[in-house]
Amino acid sequence: MAQVIYLNGKYVSKEDAQISVYDHGFLYGDGIFEGIRIYNGNIFKSREHLDRLYDSAKSIMLDIPLKQSEMQEVLNETIRRNELRDGYIRLVVSRGPGDLGLDPRRSPKANIIIIVEQLSIYPEEAYINGLKTVSVSTRRNVPDALNPKIKSLNYLNNILVKIQANLAGVGEAIMLNSQGYVAEGSSDNIFIIKRGVIFTPPCYCGALEGITRAAIIEISDKLGYKVKEEPFTLHDVYVADEVFFTGTAAEVIAVREVDARTIGEGKAGPITMNLLKEFRKLVEIDGVKVYE
Ligand code: PMP
Repeated sequence: MAQVIYLNGKYVSKEDAQISVYDHGFLYGDGIFEGIRIYNGNIFKSREHLDRLYDSAKSIMLDIPLKQSEMQEVLNETIRRNELRDGYIRLVVSRGPGDLGLDPRRSPKANIIIIVEQLSIYPEEAYINGLKTVSVSTRRNVPDALNPKIKSLNYLNNILVKIQANLAGVGEAIMLNSQGYVAEGSSDNIFIIKRGVIFTPPCYCGALEGITRAAIIEISDKLGYKVKEEPFTLHDVYVADEVFFTGTAAEVIAVREVDARTIGEGKAGPITMNLLKEFRKLVEIDGVKVYE
């Protein structure tokens, strides 16, 4: 089955999926996006992803030329045409082609792109043994500049973090905010566990309002774990019993080492494993059904 990409109302091949070099998404990172998963023919948390997309669009005053219900339909159709039951969806809305100036008024028509792909992610071994990670010097965007709640195409902040992670030879890094509190990973939210209590930074600390993060908070509540959204520092991470990241692509992935400090037993801890197990149960049954 050849891959089909949605581009502004048309379903085209990868080769034909082309947009203008004047697109302000390309020239300036002016646009927004979502990364979504499909499990077993169901789009996981589809409404939440589209809500976040439309909220990001409203915040940056980008008119998406489709209603949210129409976007849902297009998403379903793109998946059907790719005959994919399990995979990853990248939904991008850019400001569209304009001139070389910044002014978004010169980009009257947004580009909408949907790419559906197989997902290659961490090997199963990493979910059991955990990742090594480091903290980096690059700070999270402050909310009074580019607000980290906006899932914009401007990911340079995160890319700088990724470069530091690469230089340290690790797959994910921990970003602090400008006050020195832990914010998140380059593309994941972070949780720590101490004496059975689960902590995650509140979004005002610079965390994206992650959809996996919200699902994990809900699962933790259901399982009877206490969850606290409160600021914490690297020290708290170093001395935590368990640390894990959450994200659409990474799901729930344990951390075994932070800045050369071993976390807990140096592998995924029991609460992290429990949450991963419950998360994987949930994704199989939850979501918008694309196939009968
Ligand atoms: N933080 C950042 C910066 C991200 O890019 C992502 C991935 N979308 C996340 C957190 C995790 O969010 P979600 O669970 O919605 O994928």
